[in-house]
Amino acid sequence: MTSTVYYGSPRQSRLQASETLPAKLDLIMERLNLRERVKGEQVVIKLHVGNGIGYSTVHPVFVRKVVQAVIEGGGKPYIVDVDWDVHGCTERGYTAEVLGCPVFPSAGVNEQYAYPHEHTYKNIQRWLVAGMVQDATFLINFAHAKGHPSCSYGGAIKNIALGCMAGETRGAMHDTMQYDPYWFPELCPDEETRQRIKAVCPFEALVDDKEHPGYLHLHPEQCNACGRCLKVAPPGSLKIDAVNFDSFKEACAISTQITLSTFAPGKATHLCLATQIIPLCDCFGFSSMPILPDAGVFGSDDIVALDEAVLDVTARTPLIEENLPAALEVHTRQGHPLQWLHGPLKNPYKVNEYAEQLGVGSRQYELVDVFPVEKIDRSGMDYIPA
Ligand code: SF4
Repeated sequence: MTSTVYYGSPRQSRLQASETLPAKLDLIMERLNLRERVKGEQVVIKLHVGNGIGYSTVHPVFVRKVVQAVIEGGGKPYIVDVDWDVHGCTERGYTAEVLGCPVFPSAGVNEQYAYPHEHTYKNIQRWLVAGMVQDATFLINFAHAKGHPSCSYGGAIKNIALGCMAGETRGAMHDTMQYDPYWFPELCPDEETRQRIKAVCPFEALVDDKEHPGYLHLHPEQCNACGRCLKVAPPGSLKIDAVNFDSFKEACAISTQITLSTFAPGKATHLCLATQIIPLCDCFGFSSMPILPDAGVFGSDDIVALDEAVLDVTARTPLIEENLPAALEVHTRQGHPLQWLHGPLKNPYKVNEYAEQLGVGSRQYELVDVFPVEKIDRSGMDYIPA
C-alpha cells in the first residue's frame, strides 16, 4: 500500500507569508480534511512542549493554527504532553491564551491516570496508555523532528510511543535495552580490566552495575558503538549488540500500535515540523545548533509513511558537523546522517520497519508538495546598472 504524505518545503520563491511554513501547514490540514473530520470530536493534540530553556520545539504559531482549525471544524481541542514537560511549559510560551486551548499532563500530575493494555514484550507485560489520550475521540499527533540518543531520530512515532504512555511504561521501554545480556562477568573477573574498559569510553556509557557487583552496566543512550571498549575487553566478555539497541525501537513500534488502536479508524492524523533539528530530544531542556537544514512540514494519516518521508528528505543533505557540540563525535558516515552522530546501531529507519510489520502503516509513500517552489526565470531580463 502506498500512503500519501503532504509536504511543505521550507523554501520559498517569493517574499510572501503565503509561501512560508505556517501557511503551508494550513494547506496540509486542508488536504487532510482536518476541519471536516473533527466535528463533535474530543480532539487530543499530542505535542512535545520541550523542557527547561529549550526553544527548538514546535513554535506556538504552528500549534495555534492547528487548534484554530479544530475549533473552526467544531471539535473540542486540548493539548497534552508528559507531566515532566508540561510542568513549566508556560515559560516556553505554551499557554492556553497563546495556543487557544488548555495544556494538560497526559497521564495526570502523578503519572497515575492511565489505561492498562496487555502485551508481552521482553520486560514489559502491561502498557499504560495515558488517560487524557485514550479519553479523546480524535488524535492529532504534532511532532517535532530531531535527533534522539536511543534511536537516533525522534519524530511522529516517538511522539506517540513515549509521549502517550505513563511514566512506568516509558521507563520500562528504556529498560528493554537491558533485557538481553551483554556483559559476561565470568570472562572478565579482573577488576583492573573492568576499570580500563570503563575508562576507555569517551562518553561514560559504561559504569559499574550498582545492583550486581562485578557487572558492567551500559547506558545505550550514550553509546555510539565506536568499539573502543571492545578492544580492551577480554573476548566474549562484552557485547555491543544490535539486539539491545533494537529493543527500544521495537518497543516504540509496539507502544505506538497500542495507542493508535484506541482510536477508531480514520480518527488519527499526524503532523511533523522538521525545523531546528537538534542532536538530542527536546526533553533535555536545552536547544543546540541545528545539525541538519530545515526540511519542512509534513502531514499524513499514516504515521509510518510520515516518519519515512521525513527521514528520506533529511537524508538528502549531510550532517552539519561544524554545528555539533564538541562532546559528540562522528566516527562513521554510513546510513542516515543522524546515524553518523548516534552510531551504526541506531538506524532510524528500523522503528518504521517494526511498525510496518505490526501493521501500523506503510513505508511506501507518495510525497505531495502542497506548494511547489517556483523557479523565477530571469534569463530574458537584462541587467541594468544603476
Ligand atoms: S562502543 Fe564506544 S561509546 Fe559504546 S560503550 Fe564502548 S567505548 Fe563507549
